[in-house]
Amino acid sequence: MPDPAILKSVETQSNGYPVPTSGPAFASFVSEHQQNLLHSRPTELQINLGKLCNLACHHCHVDAGPKRTEIMVWEVMEKILNWADNSAIERVDLTGGAPELNPHFRQFCEAWLDRGVTITSRCNITVLYEQGQEDLADWYAENKIRLVCSLPCYTEDNVDAQRGKGTFDKSIAGLQKLNSLSYGYNPDLILDLVYNPGGAFLPPEQSGLEADYRRMLEDNFGIQFTSLLALANLPVNRFAHALQRDGELDDYQHLLVSNFNPHTVEALMCRHLINLDWEGRVFDCDFNQMLDIPFAGGDSKFLWDLKVDTIEGQPIATARHCFGCTAGAGSSCGGALE
Ligand code: SF4
Ligand code: SF4
Repeated sequence: MPDPAILKSVETQSNGYPVPTSGPAFASFVSEHQQNLLHSRPTELQINLGKLCNLACHHCHVDAGPKRTEIMVWEVMEKILNWADNSAIERVDLTGGAPELNPHFRQFCEAWLDRGVTITSRCNITVLYEQGQEDLADWYAENKIRLVCSLPCYTEDNVDAQRGKGTFDKSIAGLQKLNSLSYGYNPDLILDLVYNPGGAFLPPEQSGLEADYRRMLEDNFGIQFTSLLALANLPVNRFAHALQRDGELDDYQHLLVSNFNPHTVEALMCRHLINLDWEGRVFDCDFNQMLDIPFAGGDSKFLWDLKVDTIEGQPIATARHCFGCTAGAGSSCGGALE
């Protein structure tokens, strides 16, 4: 069983955003449902290349935007690659911000490809139209990088309300461009879309929503994609702030807790991956990184101080935001868990 002393409940956040403080603690709730939350041997690194982004979405749990200056430097990337050479890492998941805006993004990707590691890039689509990124779509296709692209709705109003005016049109044009390069058609060119709710409610059932997306995007824009991933919003950073501003933080937390699904615990992403921030510091997942909750699988602060053999069986640090991963069908960077 996890050491209860390590399973923390975070009540405050240093960047001034609220965190949920009402309702049961996640760790005790998981134990009451006869579940354990422990690391397996990591096969995946989820790497945040920085907080710089061309957008500043309302729901962004990273608090990313065009004025953020935190960005991973090449020396940190080299240390990560060196560590991975002795760690049997099979997959990397590159995120940000907009990971492509890191000046070393392509060099970093090519180093992983040379090692036979599969890459997922979390692309906001609109970055394809940023200055200096004119050849990005072609480069992605040449290197067969799996793309996971946010498109929180198939209607203009909802997307622009969440991500900023004009985002929907650019996203549609970007998806059409990716389709023209066989993304979404060719099985080697995976184009997954991401849905997240536009407010304080849970995602609808993923397969039904995927069918709606397929019909609407095909009929209206001729767009094809591989799969839809339906993600819940976790009460972290900007979304937590919006909930508190609207007096909905406690109600949303209650919604998450009352929809706790013990069958999702086994598949939580924090079990099999480790997450890195732009400085190479280790966390149990991207949400914990944003809340600055230290990695519970060891005392190491940086990846290169961590021995991969010591991670399996270690506890995972949790807090009340974790109920966002276990509500309903569950939620992870790979979509619903059930
Ligand atoms: S595109 Fe992604 S990283 Fe950028 S602001 Fe929006 S949610 Fe945050
Ligand atoms: S937020 Fe989700 S992925 Fe992260 S530690 Fe909690 S349950 Fe695991």
